[in-house]
Amino acid sequence: MNAPQTMIPQANPGAGYQAQKGAIDAAVQRALGSGWYILGQEGEAFEREFAAWLGTTRAVGCANGTDALALILRGLGIGEGMAVATVSHTAVATVAAIEMVGAVPLLLDIDPDTYTMDAEELASVLEDPPPGLPPIRAAIAVHLYGQACELDPMLEAAATAGVALIEDCAQCHGATLHGRKLGTFGAASAFSLYPTKNLGALGDGGVLATDDFELADRIAAIRQYGWKERYISSLVGVNSRLDEVQAAILRVKLTALDAGNARRREIAAAYDAALAGGPLAPPVRREDAEHVFHQYVLRSPHRNDLMARLKGMGIGTGIHYPVPVHLQSAYRDRVPLGPAGCAETARAAQEVFSLPMYPELTDPQVEQICAALRSLAG
Ligand SMILES: *Cc1c(COP(=O)(O)O)cnc(C)c1O
Repeated sequence: MNAPQTMIPQANPGAGYQAQKGAIDAAVQRALGSGWYILGQEGEAFEREFAAWLGTTRAVGCANGTDALALILRGLGIGEGMAVATVSHTAVATVAAIEMVGAVPLLLDIDPDTYTMDAEELASVLEDPPPGLPPIRAAIAVHLYGQACELDPMLEAAATAGVALIEDCAQCHGATLHGRKLGTFGAASAFSLYPTKNLGALGDGGVLATDDFELADRIAAIRQYGWKERYISSLVGVNSRLDEVQAAILRVKLTALDAGNARRREIAAAYDAALAGGPLAPPVRREDAEHVFHQYVLRSPHRNDLMARLKGMGIGTGIHYPVPVHLQSAYRDRVPLGPAGCAETARAAQEVFSLPMYPELTDPQVEQICAALRSLAG
């Protein structure tokens, strides 16, 4: 079969703009015409609307999701001479944020079914930390691909050890556990608003959320040179602000987020049905949790062959992520690992691949992808 002329891309942030073009263009014009471009009315309105949508009392906008994590760590007083536990199977951003504040990342392994942190390994390192490691002061729980990690035992282990549990919600805007939105369980939560995320700006953006007013105020100061009043730094700060144009765009996109997540679930259900009876297992769903399918991830030892066959049928795929953080040259042989040595992480990185997933996929495109999935089984 000849390759079709138009590939269905694995991600397509431009489609999200086109879907709401009129409202987004109007919002951009409004922001541009206001004469105020950084930390103004649009940003404040977005923070209020995002917090109301999420169910926290406070949200603080910032420059990107990596900064949102780093700002939370700074706000909690976590930095040099301390360690923060997280996973290696994540966007490098999670680990980069820990090192940005001067702390040591301790990288733990994943549960191979859900690709999220091995909660038992977290409990074990909190109880019995690896020798030579500075004290673990926080854990970053990454809700990868759009669904909750094994949060209950992790929250319990963190509380027992007296360390902060921070949620990395860069891939799970709107996902729930026990009927409650992710990002409302930990001390604070960080959301990336990168264009391809479930809630994506048309540029960089980030937002963090918490119910702790004091922490939110401290972080709001830290994001702008530690200012509580203009030009006077009462805290050591950084510059990580969300601009007004992006905030105005995000206010429009927030109104489409729930419907977008519902459409992602519908597409996931169609993929599930197409895979039924074949050799590829649909993604495992955690019980009593709602997945928002930031990614629809399959796993096979024949990944490269399958990706090539799908490409031949006009279907783009991606790998999230091809090299785990602990095996990348910037990190390998340098960052400490938990007792499991990230063995499942290394295996998963060899086998995972992601199908196209965004709300703007049309029904005929979804059917084309499903037909291709059925043909892989034959
Ligand atoms: C995208 C992402 C981030 C970082 O977000 P940026 O906005 O790109 O800085 C952090 N963690 C995870 C899991 C992500 O997917």
